[in-house]
Amino acid sequence: MVKKFLPLTYALILSFASTAYANSITYATGPAKTSTSNTAATKSSTASFVQTSPAWLSHVSGPANMPKGLPREEDIKAGPIIPGSFKLDMTKYPEPLKQPPINHPEVQAVIKQLDFAKIPKAPTRKRKEWSPDLTGYDVNKDPDCWWTATICKKPKVSYVPEDIYICPNKGDWGLNYDDGPYKKWWPTSEKDKEHDQPRFYNYLIANGKQKATLFFVGSNVVYYPEAAQRALSDGHTLCSHTWSHPLMTTLTNEEIVAQLYWTQRAIKETTGVTPKCWRPPYGDVDDRVRAIAWQMGMRTFLWDQDTYDWNLANGGIQLSQIDQSFEKWIRDRLAGNDTEHGHITLQHENNNLTIEISEKWLPKLQKTHRVMPIHQCINDASPYWEQSWVYPTLDNPNPPRYSLNTRPIFKASAMRSVVTNVLPYLFILITGFLFLH
Ligand SMILES: [Zn+2]
Repeated sequence: MVKKFLPLTYALILSFASTAYANSITYATGPAKTSTSNTAATKSSTASFVQTSPAWLSHVSGPANMPKGLPREEDIKAGPIIPGSFKLDMTKYPEPLKQPPINHPEVQAVIKQLDFAKIPKAPTRKRKEWSPDLTGYDVNKDPDCWWTATICKKPKVSYVPEDIYICPNKGDWGLNYDDGPYKKWWPTSEKDKEHDQPRFYNYLIANGKQKATLFFVGSNVVYYPEAAQRALSDGHTLCSHTWSHPLMTTLTNEEIVAQLYWTQRAIKETTGVTPKCWRPPYGDVDDRVRAIAWQMGMRTFLWDQDTYDWNLANGGIQLSQIDQSFEKWIRDRLAGNDTEHGHITLQHENNNLTIEISEKWLPKLQKTHRVMPIHQCINDASPYWEQSWVYPTLDNPNPPRYSLNTRPIFKASAMRSVVTNVLPYLFILITGFLFLH
């Protein structure tokens, strides 16, 4: 980053904020708080299990020009993204869209801090074409709470919390999109680029400044960091969706760490936040994978309704079938047949079709449901380890907002005060001096 002039007060605020964060990363969930140093693992002897904060990311800092807290609504504006405006040193990252190696020192540093006694010894699954091989798995006992086999969401081990997969209150729609930030990897025409972000982010702004939860693929974040920054600045909630989108249960413990680590690092270096939420690609998660993600500071988020929009581009489903799902969800809501709880529905920003479906149905959903990000519907104000970020919840819809324009406003007003307050005196002084001599 280019170093810019920082007014003293702003620098003080920043140094205060970074001190607060240095303290906050030693925070641990559970009954005990610990006070270890940044570099040491954060574990408590009194808690049965502690979700360690990402102390191993303390060497990565976010960009100075990103907001440090929830932006004000009036600062959220549609507009273009300037590609290349944020320089990310790609040489620090593994090859995008590929399984990162496990022997990288930063990955090894995380592995060293994990408590392997608290990672269930579920087998590394075999892959069978495009899904894990379920052969031989006892689906009745479901010993590993393996979602792919049984849609299990409540871990069999006590030290990992249940997955988030519904909104508790009927009528709530936990809006979320996977696989972003979207930019076509190998466009062959201008038309191919038409759905690149910020198209959909602008669409959300145009539709009531709608906020959503966005599950980002790490490789996409380093490919298009400016879009990740825009998403955060637009008030969306960022979560992890792994580095290269694999079937997580088919990976070794160390490979899982590498997938999660590089995604967290990419999101933090690009936007300054460290998500406490992640979603396994294809929903492929078991207690072994959950436990690693939890120790790395993230809770698992799934869904209870699937649009199957991901299956449209390859012809696995017809557009009319997807439309019928939305029509039914809306009809059920209007008829009062959907009274148990609200929903988290799987949707994507990963190609032209999924984005067009999202644009088609959002305004209709907004008329029948209370559409909001997932964290809002589950009343969790703090989706990141950086505690300066406080999002609206059902209980607290109006948390403090952070001005995106703090520095420009300060500079402009400082300049104005120089012009209005200092220059007239200078003028009087100089003319007085000239007059007297
Ligand atoms: Zn995905």
